Amino acid sequence: MNIHEYQAKAVLKEFGVPVSRGVPIFKASEAEAAAKELGGPLWVVKSQIHAGGRGKGKFKEASAGDKGGVRLAKSVDEVKTFASEMLGSTLVTVQTGPAGKQVNRLYIEDGSDIEKEFYLSILVDRATSRVAFVVSTEGGMDIEEVAHHHPEKIVTFSVDPATGIMPHHGRLAAKALGLSGDLAKQADKLVAQLYTAFVAKDMAMLEINPLIITKQGQLRCLDAKVSFDSNALYRHPDVVALRDETEEDAKEIEASKHDLNYITLDGTIGCMVNGAGLAMATMDIIKLYGEAPANFLDVGGGASKEKVTAAFKIITADPNVQGILINIFGGIMRCDVIAEGVIAAVKEVGLQVPLVVRLEGTNVELGKKIIADSGLNVIPADDLDDAAQKIVKAVKEVR
Ligand code: GDP
Ligand code: MG
Repeated sequence: MNIHEYQAKAVLKEFGVPVSRGVPIFKASEAEAAAKELGGPLWVVKSQIHAGGRGKGKFKEASAGDKGGVRLAKSVDEVKTFASEMLGSTLVTVQTGPAGKQVNRLYIEDGSDIEKEFYLSILVDRATSRVAFVVSTEGGMDIEEVAHHHPEKIVTFSVDPATGIMPHHGRLAAKALGLSGDLAKQADKLVAQLYTAFVAKDMAMLEINPLIITKQGQLRCLDAKVSFDSNALYRHPDVVALRDETEEDAKEIEASKHDLNYITLDGTIGCMVNGAGLAMATMDIIKLYGEAPANFLDVGGGASKEKVTAAFKIITADPNVQGILINIFGGIMRCDVIAEGVIAAVKEVGLQVPLVVRLEGTNVELGKKIIADSGLNVIPADDLDDAAQKIVKAVKEVR
């Protein structure tokens, strides 16, 4: 689960991490009070969306101006202007995809005077089964670029869970960033605070880009991106409360309510499959025949008719779906249950696109009969290969 930058900074502040003072706002009319409360003389007006690259992003609307999604303001009036330009507009960054994301929240921050920008992140390193730090002097920019062109400028180290964070980790970070004296002491403290926050809150990733030295000689986290381990959310109701569902895919939220394993993808063929492995194979074979899946969907082993109906509705509601492939291997799952669920859903929402159904396994004859008797315009298929070819052909014919 992801949260906004201003929320991440509030979480980190609980652990003593140095961040700028700031006020989140939801309406342009709140900008003036927020700016006056912070006092100036420099403010930063920051779009709050669940995507990075905001500074270099571009708004779709000309009315939002061309200064990006993170703007420095030198007066209260400028803060007000930026707020009214940015709120409600759609920001496109390298991470949002071409559709962009509507900006519904801003974070007004006390502006910092930057001496240097660094990069620091913490993640779970599966190779070592440890929490690992990634530190670089090359902050503020695309870390993937740095990793590609200057891998020597990225330093990583991991923390032994038996000892936890130790002073030598702080020294490693300080050395990697070329810090000495008081700044090295600050780095030592910061590394410990960030690690403590990471572990205490069951974070999956914490990225500070940039971590800065201010002109006044203080280390400060200027940006913060945090994601949490979804499997541990049950023990963090305070974190769950930070969830912003408007930032998440509506179809995935709906699917999670029905306990369906569903992920939106960017292809054209909607898939309904039982079993994650079969779902992966189905997506692969769609690719093999020249189309791409619109989603991953595993309805699970013992899905009910209601669950199948819900799944079918989510697929048909996706405007990108030009054809649907149902591929069921009935083991615990019975083919007649799938057939009844599909028919119930089609009766409710209609069927605007070609539908290929491949059923195999428990009660397959009954399932096929139910579909044949329904009078629905379904293209039956014998096996997975046949099914994939048929749906790809049907989609191409309709285009
Ligand atoms: P991102 O583009 O989504 O990563 O957003 P950031 O929060 O990292 O902001 C983008 C850039 O804006 C930073 O790399 C800084 O160069 C600049 N910036 C952000 N806050 C401040 C600030 O307080 N003072 C100054 N001078 N620049 C800032
Ligand atoms: Mg950043």
